[in-house]
Amino acid sequence: MRRTRELLRQMRIFRGPHHSPDKSSLNFSICLFPKSRCSTFSDHNSVNYIVNQVYVIQNKLNGMNGVISRRDFLKAGTAFLLVLQQSESLSVITVNGSIPATAMGTSLVHEHFLVDFIGADKINYSRWNRDEVVKKVMPYLLDVKKYGVKTIFDCTPVFLGRDVVLLSRLAKESGVQIITNTGYYGAVGNKYLPAWAFTETYKQIAKRWVGEFESGIEDTTVKPGFIKISVEGPHLTELHKKIVKAAALTHLQTGLTICSHTGPAMPAFEEIELLQKMKVHPAAFVWTHAQAEQDLTQHVKAAKLGAWISLDGIGWGGFEKYATSIDNLRTAGLLNKVLISHDAGWYKPGEKDGGSFTGYTNIFTALVPLLKNREFTDNDIHQLLVTNPAEAFAIRVRKI
Ligand SMILES: [Zn+2]
Repeated sequence: MRRTRELLRQMRIFRGPHHSPDKSSLNFSICLFPKSRCSTFSDHNSVNYIVNQVYVIQNKLNGMNGVISRRDFLKAGTAFLLVLQQSESLSVITVNGSIPATAMGTSLVHEHFLVDFIGADKINYSRWNRDEVVKKVMPYLLDVKKYGVKTIFDCTPVFLGRDVVLLSRLAKESGVQIITNTGYYGAVGNKYLPAWAFTETYKQIAKRWVGEFESGIEDTTVKPGFIKISVEGPHLTELHKKIVKAAALTHLQTGLTICSHTGPAMPAFEEIELLQKMKVHPAAFVWTHAQAEQDLTQHVKAAKLGAWISLDGIGWGGFEKYATSIDNLRTAGLLNKVLISHDAGWYKPGEKDGGSFTGYTNIFTALVPLLKNREFTDNDIHQLLVTNPAEAFAIRVRKI
């Protein structure tokens, strides 16, 4: 009892634009948005009720010098346990099984280990040797571990070299948690779409993706931890609209977050609108490669709707520009909607020894120092690399 009372005293309640129970830090916030605009939990009302209860009890504890009725104490204890349960029940799926979202730790949300640009009609697993790929990639994985990275999202889609047997091995041998995806990649003139993607309905396509979530990818037990799609601007074609609708339906049936390789703002907002029509909250959508949009007010506009802004080409330089874009979102009070990563790697089948390889460390060696010059705190960095990835990818349906 004394321990619970102490925990209750320590809990910090914030009144902000979203709530994120985080059992490690004992920070809780009450969402001030109406439920329709809440970007975090589908059961917004119950979390707010629970946190409010704890808040009331805390005030009593402080005001009455620790004297509190048995009834109030039990009420607060129950509320507290419910919040803990809520945060513990959210999970993500790695290639080696499900883990609590709170166990993701420092995460890189958009990287690649192998990409094969040969095309959907020619790709097959005999184009690379897994032993060789492991040998090439492993030093880079071990290097990034030194910076505390615990989880990496492999954004290579099927027909571009997604190999879950390879990913599972890389994860086991390096100790880094790796998360793979389901979905189809429509950019580059649809070169990476399988023949059936042109003829099937969005429901038929979604059934294939949901099938991977329910039964595993191909003949393995490995399940996808997010949806990766890709579109091309300036406006979405009918084919790409179909891909987005398939992603929306898959989200509603699985709770997996949708990452869409998009680039500029115009197609991003078309995707958001389409998802909303399908009753999917923008909080389930990651605007991937948002750094391609030069008008930073567009980032703010999308983040205000609840979408995740993924600034994810940090493997390729331009660090000041990234710092400016992140700072812009922080100034708008939207740091809680920003994701950062390198889009780096990768082994290239067909090239001698897999070709050139870009490591996954620029964020730590180049970007973080720039952010610190701009007076980003350790908490801000933690938000970008730990809190936001967990919040973005914890599996749950985000319905309007
Ligand atoms: Zn990528």
